[in-house]
Amino acid sequence: MSAALDSYRQRLPDMLSLLKALSLAELEVEGQFVEQLHAPIFDGMQSQDFTAAELQFFPDYLVTLDSDAPGVQADLVNALASGMPIKVLLEVQDLLEEAAPGQGRFSFGMRGSQLASMAMTFGDAFVLQSTASNLLQMRDGIQRGLRHAGPALFSVYAPADGESTLPCYLAAASAMQSRAFPAFSYDPGRGSDSAVRFSLANNPQPDVDWPLEYLTYADQDLQAVTEELAFTFVDFMLADRRHNRHFAVVPRAHWGEGLISARQWLKSPPADAATGLPFVLAVDDADLLCRVVVDERMMRAAQRCRESWHRLQELGGIHDSRVEALLAREKALWEQARAVDAAALSPAAVPAAPGNQPIVTAAVPGTVAAEDEAAPDPDKAYIETLRCSSCNECTLASPKMFAYDQNKQAYIADLKAGTYRQLVEAAESCQVSVIHPGKPWNPDEPGLDELIERARPFR
Ligand code: SF4
Repeated sequence: MSAALDSYRQRLPDMLSLLKALSLAELEVEGQFVEQLHAPIFDGMQSQDFTAAELQFFPDYLVTLDSDAPGVQADLVNALASGMPIKVLLEVQDLLEEAAPGQGRFSFGMRGSQLASMAMTFGDAFVLQSTASNLLQMRDGIQRGLRHAGPALFSVYAPADGESTLPCYLAAASAMQSRAFPAFSYDPGRGSDSAVRFSLANNPQPDVDWPLEYLTYADQDLQAVTEELAFTFVDFMLADRRHNRHFAVVPRAHWGEGLISARQWLKSPPADAATGLPFVLAVDDADLLCRVVVDERMMRAAQRCRESWHRLQELGGIHDSRVEALLAREKALWEQARAVDAAALSPAAVPAAPGNQPIVTAAVPGTVAAEDEAAPDPDKAYIETLRCSSCNECTLASPKMFAYDQNKQAYIADLKAGTYRQLVEAAESCQVSVIHPGKPWNPDEPGLDELIERARPFR
């Protein structure tokens, strides 16, 4: 990098001479050159007087950096702070490095998204981050970066062959899917504020922590089972041979013993690690589904990965904490005003609008609950709809089972559209604990004993 910068600086006097000659020739061709006026101006021109527009006449420098190389961070800072139209391709081959022995944690992201995030602080530098599998989709952004008048950084994750059990293309795609290496672009040429400069386009389901997909498989009785699964950072790391020691396959006979999904663990880690070991699903050599428990170090790395993703989401205007706090305050004020209005009216004067603002939405299969302020049946699933804070957790987790009413508050739309497990997990993720799972309705659903235990606090 320093060689490129030195070379660029050495060529600046020649570039200046060429620029002067071109400008002078232009004036002469147009018959506007006045020696007494223009000669002193040309004589006084210095290379530091170059504007970005003038520098665009000359070819840019393209420098390739290896994120594993020593001093790469200092090199990047030098390049981006120079303001020169230098284009840097940062090749990232590894996303997770072990910290020094004894630190007890991974140093997640130093080689990857943190470098690209740091580059955005330079303000006038163009920054694009993408996995190698996503470059075609980012081609417009890449072209904008190459045309950018100032420095530009292209940080690309291209996993080294042999580290992952997946082919390189799929390993790169899974890094983006799992938020380990999200795609983003920061283009100062688009405007003056982050809202227009920063984009998270191309990331799958950018408004949630982990993308959700459905997995259908045949169970032991050869019945088709469909589960909704989150693809987390842990799922991505499971494919990396170097990190095998952080995972252990659990024999099927022990599946019910205190195992919770990694997605659930990440939502609310149990206070006592022994009561909830996180697992992810995998397929063994015999093509059978198995559960793989994950150690705490890997789970903590996943938490840090999610925190980095949250910072990017906020930059992209998704779940902006300041906006959400403002909305919550406005909503509380609005509800206060509504309660005052309701108190001022006699009960007889309030029209009974079916489905409107139910106190409780029960959802026994195939029925819609009547309003019942007195005593909801604890054996039947229901939501205290009026207390729903519209956080999206349940509706995103199971869009067929949960829906919003006209006040954007959740109710159970179709209990049969999901499983008891999904209902219990929604109750656990509900930030205001207004989902009550009741009793299971399908006695054949696997893992009911464990689920009934988990549902007990919400009855
Ligand atoms: S999780 Fe709870 S608060 Fe969030 S939308 Fe569903 S019911 Fe409402």
